[in-house]
Amino acid sequence: GMFGRLASRGYAAAAQARSVLENELAAIRAAGTWKGERVIKSKQGAHIHVDGSRGDILNFCANNYLGLSSHPEVVQAGVDALKMYGAGLSSVRFICGTQDIHKDLEQKLAKFHEREDCILYASCFDANAGLFEVLLGPDDAVLSDELNHASIIDGIRLCRAKRFRYKHMDLNDLEDKLKEAESSRLRLVVTDGVFSMDGDIAPLQGICDLAEKYGAMVFIDECHATGFLGARGRGTDELLGVMDRVQIVNSTLGKALGGAAGGYTVGPKPLIELLRQRSRPYLFSNSLPPPVVGSATRAVELLLASNEIAQSMAAKTMRFRNAMTQAGFTISGAAHPICPVMLGDAQLASLMADDMLNFGVYVIGFSYPVVPKGKARIRVQISAAHTDQDIDHCVDAFIQTGRKHGVIS
Ligand code: PLP
Repeated sequence: GMFGRLASRGYAAAAQARSVLENELAAIRAAGTWKGERVIKSKQGAHIHVDGSRGDILNFCANNYLGLSSHPEVVQAGVDALKMYGAGLSSVRFICGTQDIHKDLEQKLAKFHEREDCILYASCFDANAGLFEVLLGPDDAVLSDELNHASIIDGIRLCRAKRFRYKHMDLNDLEDKLKEAESSRLRLVVTDGVFSMDGDIAPLQGICDLAEKYGAMVFIDECHATGFLGARGRGTDELLGVMDRVQIVNSTLGKALGGAAGGYTVGPKPLIELLRQRSRPYLFSNSLPPPVVGSATRAVELLLASNEIAQSMAAKTMRFRNAMTQAGFTISGAAHPICPVMLGDAQLASLMADDMLNFGVYVIGFSYPVVPKGKARIRVQISAAHTDQDIDHCVDAFIQTGRKHGVIS
């Protein structure tokens, strides 16, 4: 009957989609860009248990820069918030999803960044998706570094401002684009503070100089800086002395600040108020769960109280960078815990990363399209949770595998 005919057309549509998807998957495998997922059977930390590998594995590929992901006080604060405030809100913020702990965390983050106000999101991806559309309309212009994070690119796609993409950290090109954008109402320069693939740091002084010359505002994404860059760990803007010249900062709670989840915008009060009214990922998505808020709050409190953890991470970063450079490796980027060991060849990067696991060290090779062709690398990330011994073990494993593959002599 008719139902049978319609049902069989439904099956055919599903079968067709399945074959389209399977072809796509096969193409990814054939291109050698398939991303597998190793399964971890322990807490995040310097030492982890990985499914399929025996014993302790030394982890050098988390964004757990300050080791707070399983810091006892951060974990306990999450447990306390869970017990007192429940598992979740079952609501967006403006209906019945705002607890005192959300307001408190927003105030602490605003204070930490020395900005007027703060709004929380479920992730920094959401903060980046929600900002530009609210701030910028068709009369405005956005000037964006070509290597900005995917979530910034997506967020900018959602806004109706005129788009200018400048060459990576190229101030001359940025100036040309600012000249082109002179007739727009508002201009916003948008950059990652730290770029995560290279560990390189945006030239914020030059960017702020240009922004001021051409009447633009500056936005930075501080996901790989918040908590540890600068004398008090406030970020790239503190490191480069421009905290009062960068108007808007987005960052994450999912890396140095406890590593659970969540993101936020800090900036001028009217902007934050308008985001609460109009920002779609804020308005139409669930409130941050209490245990996540509790853990992040404790992490921020620890950092407001002392910069000791960040200093210990910085010392370990230099220990690693110096030893590796001395051994003959090329480590790119600035003095940042993202330490890309440059290898060039994609297969070499992947084979070496596999060999490192045999020495009990977990690192990941990155190759095209995540980084440019011919610039494959193993990206090592240092954490305050690593001991000096851990660092030395990692360097040792690199020396042995590097010799085996002829990368160093
Ligand atoms: N921006 C940058 C530069 C990032 O590295 C990330 C990482 O995931 C994000 C945004 C997204 O942050 P979240 O994980 O909080 O969504």
